[in-house]
Amino acid sequence: MAMERDCDIAIIGAGVLGTCLAHWISSLYSARVCLIDASGDVASHTTSRNTGVIHRPFYLDPVKKGTFARAASLSYPMWMKFARDFSLPWEQVGTVEVALSDRDLDVISSYSEYAESNGMSREEYEVLDTHGLQAIEGGSVKALGAFFSKTDTSVDYGLMTRAICGTLSGVSTVLGRSVVRIVEGEGYNLTLSDGSTLRARTVFNCAGANSLRIAHSMGLARDLSVFFFRGGDYWRLRQDALPSIRHNIYSVPRFLKFPFLDPHFIVRYSGVRELGGPNAALVAGPYVYSGFSESPLQALSWLFERPVLTRLSLLTNLEFLGMVRSEWESSTSPPEGMVRRLSSFIPSLKASMISGPGISGVRGLCGEQERFRA
Ligand SMILES: Cc1cc2nc3c(=O)[nH]c(=O)nc-3n(C[C@H](O)[C@H](O)[C@H](O)COP(=O)(O)OP(=O)(O)OC[C@H]3O[C@@H](n4cnc5c(N)ncnc54)[C@H](O)[C@@H]3O)c2cc1C
Repeated sequence: MAMERDCDIAIIGAGVLGTCLAHWISSLYSARVCLIDASGDVASHTTSRNTGVIHRPFYLDPVKKGTFARAASLSYPMWMKFARDFSLPWEQVGTVEVALSDRDLDVISSYSEYAESNGMSREEYEVLDTHGLQAIEGGSVKALGAFFSKTDTSVDYGLMTRAICGTLSGVSTVLGRSVVRIVEGEGYNLTLSDGSTLRARTVFNCAGANSLRIAHSMGLARDLSVFFFRGGDYWRLRQDALPSIRHNIYSVPRFLKFPFLDPHFIVRYSGVRELGGPNAALVAGPYVYSGFSESPLQALSWLFERPVLTRLSLLTNLEFLGMVRSEWESSTSPPEGMVRRLSSFIPSLKASMISGPGISGVRGLCGEQERFRA
């Protein structure tokens, strides 16, 4: 039955972001908070489909990325305590970031400074030469040197978010209903997919990859477009393969502005080891975890989604189409391409060591129309 309710604050999206926000607001203020998610459970999208690493801020330039670095520093002990209090997985597997060129060695030498400025203690990290790398990875990883962040931690963000949701008090949670319309008047009137309505004084849009669509539906951020890419295809390694590799292995990013966009080797908290990472397989929506779209209708509405000009200019750009085609091939074929890229620092890695696919995630690339035209 359609129902109406009032609240002070409506939060759209019960991923890690919306759920943590609900936690903080309800702990600090006496406000009526309503947390809404389209799925039947919290944390059912990106929050449960990521690499699961709590990264320490050694790679963040404290001047250019100071806010991120501070957030990472402050939140780490809170996550640790929370994991301990609620008996949730917390494995300090550590991350080794390897240098494959002289330019990478320069990058790594700046990491010690960043780590110290961002509040990491001296015991948390080490700069390794080739012997040091050999000592910790048993010769399976080859590079000119590496930065070893010992306290990077493997967790399950989905489990953590569900546990946080379980602690919320004074927050009403509405699951299995999406926000389909928001009208601004005296506050905001939200219409949910079952026809019920909700009035809120303030709305937080924490809808992850879907947030821009929500903003567009309210006439906001019209100059921004979003494209979705299956930005995380992971492959599981056989348990008996490369037993000496026990840490996450990343290479120094090719594009420093976009860390974690190069393929990597990860150790999940469960001990399962996977390789993979981003590719640029274009998909039609934020939750398309296989194929190009969930339905022909979705593919069609993707094509004509506003701003249409951005779509058309991209779809007539031969360079873009070539990149999409080759990424699609590497996304749908067995993981030889990923293995080839990782073998520049794990030379004995073979496609035959893969036991099957891991979890896939989707990344949204958002920007002004000009960015995509360029
Ligand atoms: C492949 C991959 C690997 C990553 N690895 C890491 C990592 O190792 N470490 C790290 O810190 N970060 C990592 N990230 C980033 C991290 O996962 C995200 O930043 C984080 O999960 C985003 O959380 P969120 O709550 O914003 O989004 P989400 O978890 O996607 O939550 C958004 C929620 O909004 C809901 N929603 C959407 N539209 C509506 C609507 N209209 N009405 C109601 N509800 C709606 C959805 O159902 C969803 O539950 C990774 C990301 C990807 C893609």
